[in-house]
Amino acid sequence: MTTYEVTTRGGETHTVECLLTNAECAEVIRSAPKASDFARDLASKASLSPKQEAWLHVLTRWIKHPKTQPSSGLAFPAIQALLQKGFDSGRAFPKLRLRVDGERIVLARSGAGKINVSDGAGYAHGQWFGAIQLDGTWRGGRAKSTLVMETLANLEQNGIAFLNSNGIETGECCYCNSPIETDESIAVGYGPICAKRYGLPWGKVVK
Ligand SMILES: [Zn+2]
Repeated sequence: MTTYEVTTRGGETHTVECLLTNAECAEVIRSAPKASDFARDLASKASLSPKQEAWLHVLTRWIKHPKTQPSSGLAFPAIQALLQKGFDSGRAFPKLRLRVDGERIVLARSGAGKINVSDGAGYAHGQWFGAIQLDGTWRGGRAKSTLVMETLANLEQNGIAFLNSNGIETGECCYCNSPIETDESIAVGYGPICAKRYGLPWGKVVK
């Protein structure tokens, strides 16, 4: 019996005890019609890192005992509301373009109101991390990124000003997408006009 522990994108830790070998787990995943691409990818690997090995066993458990699998439970209603305001102010396709640790993360509201989260490189070449639904719930996409999920969690909890005050660049107003250049605007992530329109604080540089 070996104990395996994984941490999800949402920061939850899951521990399972498993008697199966890696090869036996891979076989369970291969023969499960509903196994995720992530699970299939792990099952096809010739060698696994300790982290991947832990996921192999946890995912196998979830396939064999589906009731033990937690729902993602992730929801970002505040982010949905943030871009909704941009839409309500007359932007057909509000976007939030972030640069985090040198990586581009783009949140783009579709005409239907879903917010697609990608690296902004477009459908053909880009990475699509998932989408925030109209009700705020999260559906993960093919590309997985801890950095993206951490950034979404930060943005959800603390708002746009938090990202900016932590050196995450947007370069443009999160509501109207106009370039923002002054220290006061960069500090909060929106310009003075939108600050006034939405009754938000503006004018003090956050330290
Ligand atoms: Zn603006």
